[in-house]
Amino acid sequence: MEKRHPPGKKRNNGPLFFYFFSLFLTFGLFYLAFHFSSWEGETKSAQSQENSLQMENSTAPAQGSAGNWVEFVSLPEDAFYQGPLILVNQRYGCYQEEIPDLLSVYENKNSSYMVSDKNVLLHKDTIQALNEMLLGFQQSQGSQDLLVCSGYRTLDYQDDLLSREEQEKGSQAAAAWVASPGHSEHHTGYALDFNIFHPSDGTSESYTGTGVYRWINENAPRFGFIVRYPEEKYAYTGIQYEPWHFRYVGLPHSLIIQEHEFCLEEYISYLDSFTAQGEHLFYTDPQGKQYEIYTVNNTENIPIGSNKSYTISGDNTGRCIVTLFQ
Ligand SMILES: [Zn+2]
Repeated sequence: MEKRHPPGKKRNNGPLFFYFFSLFLTFGLFYLAFHFSSWEGETKSAQSQENSLQMENSTAPAQGSAGNWVEFVSLPEDAFYQGPLILVNQRYGCYQEEIPDLLSVYENKNSSYMVSDKNVLLHKDTIQALNEMLLGFQQSQGSQDLLVCSGYRTLDYQDDLLSREEQEKGSQAAAAWVASPGHSEHHTGYALDFNIFHPSDGTSESYTGTGVYRWINENAPRFGFIVRYPEEKYAYTGIQYEPWHFRYVGLPHSLIIQEHEFCLEEYISYLDSFTAQGEHLFYTDPQGKQYEIYTVNNTENIPIGSNKSYTISGDNTGRCIVTLFQ
């Protein structure tokens, strides 16, 4: 309710002036204090806005990614050297003391193929993809004569293998077929060799990827596998054509490698162009599933966008490859 001065009563303006002056002084001080604190706040918020803008630009180039950098993950430093995309060749060795998640193929396989003995080990993701691929092969081609004859190898095993090959063929020829210890893909748990065994007559033959087995070499990328040492890629891989040697790299990487007719060396180089802060690689698979791929040079605070699933693999060259998908 409004209070009015009684009419006709003269005001005393002296104390009133003092009152307004004090009020002005008090509010002035408050204003100054508030102004400075909010200026600092505005600067901070402008900075964070700038940061999020940079991040947003980096994830949303022409293709219109939905990714805003709102989530980050940190991995141990050895993440650079683990995962299905690690490049192992003469240049990049694989010296992990312990390979995680190695399982017996014999104990985890389905009935669509055979394995040479109970000691053949592979990474669990490789076995799962192998089971799917060879079930598809059996259903399509009606053959169960496929044999996994080699999986994970220790450094000592590779050393013995190379020595035997050198004695048989000489060191130069051996080097073209057998990798030196530490430089074989078989140390990763993501590589395997096929052979063919006919239980009906007990005979075996080399796997050449021809005849009914052509299905495997052509369809392997649908299951995350690549023929690791294709013909015509010796200049990159340093290993002769091996139609029997398959490498699990995971989806969608195997499909991209197939589409571009890359070998793994070429694919890893190709990914140089796609970084977290720069352009990303967008890929849609034949089923319409969308992927977004980029590399990072760090294992801490890796940006992974929001509302998306992701996988992160090292590439063994000092980077991690991030794959986002819905
Ligand atoms: Zn092999």
